[in-house]
Amino acid sequence: YTGKSGSQLLTDSLKKIVVGDYQSIPVVIMEDVSVYDAIVTMFLEDVGTLFVVDKSSHLAGVLSRKDLLRASIGKQELTALPVNIIMTRMPNITVCKKEDLLIDAAKKLIDKQIDALPIVKEAEQGLEIVGRLTKTNITRAFVALADEE
Ligand code: ADP
Repeated sequence: YTGKSGSQLLTDSLKKIVVGDYQSIPVVIMEDVSVYDAIVTMFLEDVGTLFVVDKSSHLAGVLSRKDLLRASIGKQELTALPVNIIMTRMPNITVCKKEDLLIDAAKKLIDKQIDALPIVKEAEQGLEIVGRLTKTNITRAFVALADEE
């Protein structure tokens, strides 16, 4: 018997969970795609956050539902407006890595008041997107912790 309390055991198992255990597949678009096509992609792929890449496939930006809504209430022609005009861009993107603790990624979501993080791998000239971590992934991990014996 370890003598550990229930909450100590919970903390121990929480600190063993990494981002890679609960990640989702990222939905990625090119930065020259129109806002109109980004909205269509968001519906078809059923995600709340799109990641934007440049010509060399490196992370360039993030698009949320509200970014697209904001652009839509303007007078612009959405088929002629490229997403790189309205996206949140590098270097202001909060990211995480597969091997990061899930609890640390969850803290980033709270601190920055955002819904998703791109999971990245460092490449020569930028960041390569390898996954997506959302509040839903955190909720899944939370439920799985409760189901542990
Ligand atoms: P919504 O805008 O639909 O409420 P979010 O809360 O995720 O969705 O996004 C809020 C703002 O933060 C948006 O402008 C979005 O572009 C930006 N954002 C979302 N995710 C990130 C991220 N990982 N890093 C930096 N900015 C982000």
